[in-house]
Amino acid sequence: MEILHVSAECYPMAKAGGLADVAGALPKYQNKIGHNAKVVMPMHRTKFLYNNQWEVAHKGAIFMGDNKYEYTVIKEETNKLGFNLFCIDINGLLDREMIYGYDDDAERFTAFQIAVLDWLSNWQHQPDIIHVHDHHAALIPFMLKFCYTYQQIAHIPCVLTIHNGQYQGWMDWAKVGYLPAWDTWRWGLLDWSGVINPLAAGVKCADLVTTVSPGYMQELMQEANGLEGLFRTEAYKCHGVINGIDFEVWNPATDTYIAHNFSIKNATAGKKLNKEMLCKQFDFNPQLPLFIFIGRLVEEKAADLLPELLIQTFAKARDKFSFLILGSGEKNIEHQLGSLNNRWVGYYNSKMEYNEKLSHQMYASADFLLMPSRVEPCGLNQLYAMRYGTVPVVRRIGGLKDTVQDYGDEGGYGICFNYPNMGDMLHAFDRALALYDDEASLKKVRSTMMSLKTSWEVSAKQYIELYQTI
Ligand code: ADP
Repeated sequence: MEILHVSAECYPMAKAGGLADVAGALPKYQNKIGHNAKVVMPMHRTKFLYNNQWEVAHKGAIFMGDNKYEYTVIKEETNKLGFNLFCIDINGLLDREMIYGYDDDAERFTAFQIAVLDWLSNWQHQPDIIHVHDHHAALIPFMLKFCYTYQQIAHIPCVLTIHNGQYQGWMDWAKVGYLPAWDTWRWGLLDWSGVINPLAAGVKCADLVTTVSPGYMQELMQEANGLEGLFRTEAYKCHGVINGIDFEVWNPATDTYIAHNFSIKNATAGKKLNKEMLCKQFDFNPQLPLFIFIGRLVEEKAADLLPELLIQTFAKARDKFSFLILGSGEKNIEHQLGSLNNRWVGYYNSKMEYNEKLSHQMYASADFLLMPSRVEPCGLNQLYAMRYGTVPVVRRIGGLKDTVQDYGDEGGYGICFNYPNMGDMLHAFDRALALYDDEASLKKVRSTMMSLKTSWEVSAKQYIELYQTI
């Protein structure tokens, strides 16, 4: 089967979060099981762009309203990622350093989607499935079906995967002129509460809608930033497929970012060596349990609760643990966490940056990873942590509920709590300290986690089975 994934991010070309990890791994695993999956994304100006060789695959031009844009589709020459990676360059619109965060993001991603469809209309090998990811690509199912210019490819089935339903790409109706001529009787498919809502349009028009865990799909039907009723109405075509992880990138036995590689057999010793190195860097005592938090510093992740949690845990158990935070996001949270760096020197530190290498070192070295998320569509951090023998301390929500079982339950391996509040988090923290002191249990939990079959192999097959239904 030929599958074209359309995504704003794709690891290692450009990554802001879990979407990139999925777009960079799912196609590879689909190809491993005999399919032909490719990825198309905007041509962000990243290191990967400059450090690799590209060939021109297509050149064309599109209109957005009266504005004409020439575009170029380039392809990574070597296929070294395990799939063909195509990038769309539109001078002045898509050739930027950041993935998101510009005032004209609506124009940028609309142009990207129009260019993808224009290219497909001119491509000899049309895919059997177009698989679009999140709101940046979610106008494609609508445009494919209802823009006159794409009629010769309108039969191609479309799947929309939602990695985060909070962001919907809202656009004022004044921007409708960006779209190529379309069947205006269908305006209701674009509209949600008086604005153009690309994510809602995608849910209405895609042949299948998936999200990245069954638990999150259930939650979207109750709370989806205004779209919950839509998810209930469209439930017949909605599915939850849990994300996997790329076992080739995330493998403590071969990871080149970490100094001491280890496997399940020597995990205790291997982690200890990595921890000693990381602790030296931050002046922490390696004998103490090391807690980490990695991720976007936003309310969704409950990062706003971290300063108070730190104050309370250090008041309770000063000298008994270390805590390292890596993240970036809302400025007030960054400021609060950063300003605590001088308060518990030798026990606490935070790095307000995006640092892939340090994240790998932290997963490899830490004893516990905290994820108190308010919303968690799937969550990849807990899967990476477990693969590296780090116990996840998570709130039971979305994908965290689907992937982490409390170690108090038969066969369990993580620490779970119900609500993102101080009481629940402090209790979970106490349980983590107790587990750290119980070496035999910790070893057992570690080996259970490290043997979990969380690779993409399983989920890649599930996507193929779903494609076959359409
Ligand atoms: P999100 O909601 O942000 O997509 P996920 O858990 O699905 O959350 O994926 C987050 C991904 O981004 C993981 O690969 C994680 O390691 C990575 N990540 C997040 N913040 C940082 C950071 N500051 N530095 C390095 N990696 C990060």
